[in-house]
Amino acid sequence: GDAPKKSLWQRIKDVATTDVGVILRGGVKDGSLEDLEEILLGADFGVPTTLALVDKIGGYAQKGFIRTEAEFQDALRRLVEAELREGNSDPALRMAAQGPTVILVIGVNGAGKTTFIGKLAAHFRKQGKRVLVGAADTFRAGAIDQLRLWAERTGADFVASKPGTDPAAVAFDAIDAGVTRGADVVIVDTAGRLHTSGGLMDEMKKVHRVIGKRMEGAPHETLLVLDGTIGQNAVQQAKQFSEAVPITGLVVTKLDSTAKGGVVVAVHEALDLPVKFIGVGEAADDLEAFDPAAFARELTE
Ligand code: GDP
Repeated sequence: GDAPKKSLWQRIKDVATTDVGVILRGGVKDGSLEDLEEILLGADFGVPTTLALVDKIGGYAQKGFIRTEAEFQDALRRLVEAELREGNSDPALRMAAQGPTVILVIGVNGAGKTTFIGKLAAHFRKQGKRVLVGAADTFRAGAIDQLRLWAERTGADFVASKPGTDPAAVAFDAIDAGVTRGADVVIVDTAGRLHTSGGLMDEMKKVHRVIGKRMEGAPHETLLVLDGTIGQNAVQQAKQFSEAVPITGLVVTKLDSTAKGGVVVAVHEALDLPVKFIGVGEAADDLEAFDPAAFARELTE
């Protein structure tokens, strides 16, 4: 029973008769960009990205580049896309030259890790690849069962151990099994209880280190899964995780549940990490390889 969510562009249009309307008429004055700033902050772009966007829009307006609604929309779309393409932004996964590609998946409980791993397994299975999923979240018995279900559903191999087993040992075994069975991709789940807990961070470091010891160059990707509905907390979470392990890419989930897609731009900018996938639902095919142009277009439609 959710109220229809207003898109970013709809919100802008709602105030276009007032201050943003001034921008449309090319007359940027003191305060006339404040509405835009508020809307972007409200859409979870975060302070740095919002200020950068507002500054550029203001500049364009002053130079007379924004005289119509369409030009405003187009400028915003281009600017959002440019932000997403800035810096480290290649959405392609790094695959192993030889042997299985190892993908380590981290994130707090509830962010959508298990679901993402299921979707990713389905994605590779559709390409005819042999996939093995390793359940190194040995803290929650429920998590192991959920992951097993996804593995069965997608036709992926599954390696797990009893709850309470050393997660690094499970990760090691998963890669062992992946190598022996000729898997193309090994996806390793990790625990995600309280991200502030030092124990968890140490555990993750150990998993990462042991994977590297078992296979040179692995993990080829360390993907951090972030809940797209938690706003700027996602930026905080990402910073904390990035202090523990070298993250190579971001996954932002639940974007079907929010019209505040700005968080995707905010986390990319704050961490200088590429967004590699976005989650847009709970089903196996609700995973999208991230496309900055399509995302920017959707945000500004
Ligand atoms: P984990 O604890 O990080 O492993 O999280 P789960 O994968 O169990 O996901 C937590 C909840 O979020 C579940 O109810 C999922 O169905 C839901 N979920 C995960 N990804 C998405 C998504 O992209 N969209 C929506 N709407 N729900 C999602």
